[in-house]
Amino acid sequence: MSRTSHANGAPVTVVGGSATGLYAATLLAEAGRDVRVLEGSEEYAPDARTLIVTRRMKDLPGDPGDQSIVNIINRFELLTDGRAATIELDEPDLVIERSTLLHGMVERARAAGVDLQMGNRVRTLKANGTGGVTLGIGSNGATRDVLAHTVVGADGTFSCVAKAAGWPPLETVPLIQAIVRLPDDLPPDTTRVWFHPEDTPYFYWLIPESPERGALGLIGEDGPAAGRCLERFLERHQFEPIEFQAARIPCYRRWVQPQRRLGDTDIYLVGDAAAQVKVTTVGGIVTGFRGALGVAESILHGRTAAFRQLKRELDWHRLLRRSLGRFRQADYELLLDVLNPGTHGVLGTYTRDEAGRILARLCLAQPRLILLALRTLVLPPDRPSTV
Ligand SMILES: Cc1cc2nc3c(=O)[nH]c(=O)nc-3n(C[C@H](O)[C@H](O)[C@H](O)COP(=O)(O)OP(=O)(O)OC[C@H]3O[C@@H](n4cnc5c(N)ncnc54)[C@H](O)[C@@H]3O)c2cc1C
Repeated sequence: MSRTSHANGAPVTVVGGSATGLYAATLLAEAGRDVRVLEGSEEYAPDARTLIVTRRMKDLPGDPGDQSIVNIINRFELLTDGRAATIELDEPDLVIERSTLLHGMVERARAAGVDLQMGNRVRTLKANGTGGVTLGIGSNGATRDVLAHTVVGADGTFSCVAKAAGWPPLETVPLIQAIVRLPDDLPPDTTRVWFHPEDTPYFYWLIPESPERGALGLIGEDGPAAGRCLERFLERHQFEPIEFQAARIPCYRRWVQPQRRLGDTDIYLVGDAAAQVKVTTVGGIVTGFRGALGVAESILHGRTAAFRQLKRELDWHRLLRRSLGRFRQADYELLLDVLNPGTHGVLGTYTRDEAGRILARLCLAQPRLILLALRTLVLPPDRPSTV
C-alpha cells in the first residue's frame, strides 16, 4: 500500500450503509474517528433475506448479529443421485434475518457517533487537486458536491466508487432462491444440499429459517437458465414457492487490492464491492465483515494483517471452487462414498470460514480426496471416474 492516512485522523466517508459499510463505519467511529455514511436509499428499509453464516459471525458485529439469529443448524445433509451423507456440526451454523441484522447495526453505528445520511446516492468521484476528492451526490432529485478525504466504497457488487477510482468491473453470478414450506422429512435444524452438476456447478440448498419455512435456491452461471432450473427443481420435489429472492453476486476470481490512491486520497473497497465473497458457497457476510475489519485496521493503524488473512482464505475457496466446478455426477458420488468418520469429524469441527485448515485436515483424514481434487484440476474432462 502506498501510504496510510492514520496519521492525520481525517474524517472518513463510507459510501453504502449495508452490512459491511456499517461495520467499517462503526469500528472507525468507536476508535474516535469522524465518520459519515452516505446511503443511496431514501429510507432505511433493507429487503428481508434469509442468510446462513458460520458461527464466526458471532466474533464480529456483536449484539446485532446475535439479535438477527432466527434458527440454528446442527447438521448438513448432502445428497447426490442415490447417495447421502450427514455431517453433524460440533457448533451450529446460524440462520440470520438480514433486515434485523442491518437495523441492529444502524443502532450500534449511531450509538458510536456515525452520521448516517439517507437518500445520498454517490454518482461521481473525482480527485479535486486540493488534497481530497469530490463526490457528486444525487439527493432529493438535485445534485450537490461533497468534499471527502478518506473514502470507503461499501456500495455493493456494481460499486460506483470502484468504477470511478479505476478498479475493473467484477464478474458476477446469479443467485436465486424461493421461500418454501419445509418438507415433513427435514428437521428444522438441518440444511439439505443437493449436488446436480448438470444444472449447476454449485449446488441446490434448502436452509430452514423456522420449523415451517426455508430458503431453497441455487447459484447458476446464467440468470434465466438458473431460474428455469429452480422452477423445474421446485416442481420435481413438489415445493410451492411462497416468494422469490434473487440478485447477482460477485465472483471472486482474484484478490482485489482493497486500497488505492486517487490524487492524494486513500480510497478503500469492502464487501461485495471488493468481491470479498467465498466463491465455493457465495457467502459474503462473514468475509465482508473481515474485509471491514481490514479497512478499519488499515485506516487506523496502517496494518494489513487482516487483509492478508482474508486473501488467503478467499484464495483457498477459489482453489476448491476450481476443483468442484469440474466435478461430474460420478465425482460427487465418489466424494460421498469416500467421506469416512475422520472427514465427517473435520467437516463438523471447522467452519467454511477456515477453508485452509479444513482442506489440510481432510486430506490427512482421507488421502483419496487429494487424488479426486487433483484429477479434476489436472486431467481432461473425459478422465476415468475412479481414484
Ligand atoms: C438472495 C441472497 C442470498 C444470500 N445468501 C447469503 C448467505 O446465506 N450467506 C452469506 O454469507 N451471504 C449471502 N449472500 C451474500 C451477502 O448478502 C452479501 O455478500 C453481503 O450482504 C454484502 O454486503 P455489502 O454491505 O458489501 O453490500 P450490499 O448489501 O450490496 O450493500 C450495498 C449498499 O450500498 C448502497 N449503495 C449502492 N450504490 C450506492 C451509491 N452509489 N451511493 C450510495 N449508496 C449506494 C446500497 O443501497 C446498499 O445499502 C446472499 C445474497 C443474496 C442476494
